[in-house]
Amino acid sequence: MKLSKFLFLASLLSGIWLFNESAQADLSSNLVIQYIQEGIARKSWQPVQEENFLNRSGMLPRNNYRNGQGRPEGIVIHETANPTSTIYNEISYMYGHWQSAFVHEFVDANHLVGVANTDYLCWGAGTIANQRFIQVEQLEVHSKDDFAREQLNLAKFTADQLSYYGLGMGRRRATIWSHDDVSGVLGGTNHSDPVSYWNNSASNWFSGSYNMDDFIWLVNQIKSATLMRGYGLPSIIKRDTQTRWLKFGRNTEIFDRSVAGKVIGNSTTLSAKNVTVKEIGTLSNGQVLALVSQNNNILGWTDLTALIKI
Ligand SMILES: [Zn+2]
Repeated sequence: MKLSKFLFLASLLSGIWLFNESAQADLSSNLVIQYIQEGIARKSWQPVQEENFLNRSGMLPRNNYRNGQGRPEGIVIHETANPTSTIYNEISYMYGHWQSAFVHEFVDANHLVGVANTDYLCWGAGTIANQRFIQVEQLEVHSKDDFAREQLNLAKFTADQLSYYGLGMGRRRATIWSHDDVSGVLGGTNHSDPVSYWNNSASNWFSGSYNMDDFIWLVNQIKSATLMRGYGLPSIIKRDTQTRWLKFGRNTEIFDRSVAGKVIGNSTTLSAKNVTVKEIGTLSNGQVLALVSQNNNILGWTDLTALIKI
């Protein structure tokens, strides 16, 4: 995405956090995800704020995805397979060797760094996948808490990309792929990350398992959390910021403009799906809502992440 749009998106999405006790998140049977949920509920864990290195990425080529600029079809999950590297060293190395390979994003327990424009393809998983997908690289981390927090950051980033590009819920080998999935299904590459990293981390620190299906459950939990109840009315952060038209990309509730938590409709009942955004606001729990209108009639507040570009 363009830099200005990236910053706008980052400013909107960095504050969204959809898991907490009051939001009645579904409980997982997976030990890694249970530990993440406990961290959020009891240790005030939140996804880390994204850092933006796009101003250092001018040397990178700008090639369109097979469906065009700004049209990725999903996301590929990588892991560096380097047990001793650090995130900023990995990024420096990538900028120095981009002709061989580069990705869009790096993540670890305490950092999420955008390093290439996600509106254009990167070179991380072979010719077939490169033409289709955003790609994110995990660093290897070395403790129970760090692994849990890295997964939280990775899942939040993934959920935000699916929302931003209007790709719907996370679906295995459709909108979310491991590099191993790419090797097995699409070809053009033969890496198997992050399978062994996740297996070993889950086994060593949680005496359990953790795989792509678990990760996708976590992503979808973040994407679909119930909004607004118990958090009052939004505090306005932007007014009349968008003139572009959007539409509902998934079914979601519409809330009264001035009565907190009062559901007044549902996007499925609207005869027309196109809306304009009049205001953007945040709830006390950090969730971001859009006040939407049709034909100059205010409909109400709705989940910003449910809206997609026309
Ligand atoms: Zn990989």
